[in-house]
Amino acid sequence: MAEMTRAALNNDWTTARQLLRKYLPLMQANFIESSPMPVKAVLAMMGRIEETYRLPMVQVRRDTRSKLQRIASEAGLIARAAAATAEAQGFFVYENWAAGPHKAVLHRSNCGQCSNGKARPAGHSANHARWHGPYPTLAEARQTVQTLPSVLIRSECKCI
Ligand SMILES: [Zn+2]
Repeated sequence: MAEMTRAALNNDWTTARQLLRKYLPLMQANFIESSPMPVKAVLAMMGRIEETYRLPMVQVRRDTRSKLQRIASEAGLIARAAAATAEAQGFFVYENWAAGPHKAVLHRSNCGQCSNGKARPAGHSANHARWHGPYPTLAEARQTVQTLPSVLIRSECKCI
């Protein structure tokens, strides 16, 4: 915005218009749903904030999220790969109390080790390991990790 304003004040309308055209869809996207939900969703896609909301704000709808991903990647704010990562919704917690101390590990749903909570590392029986989730936000998944009883080790996979 500062760059665009500066260009306009300098009578450099070509630059000002280029910047306006580049970012206008992003400005309009702020109001696809109640502001500032969309901007929070995009900032989270960019990895700038954690995606948490306080009522009356809630997560944007799934179709809005897809639109925001397209707009943000077209504006060069997120890579296409990041858009795909953001698409994979949800987090899982792996709880294991068979080998070694009772532990809980947080994973993103698209993580290879997690595979949407369906993967089970070899040698671990259902009696000694289980998945919790999916949780829509990282905050909720972390909350679960904190509240699981008798867990001694709490960690997060590098997919987080
Ligand atoms: Zn993982």
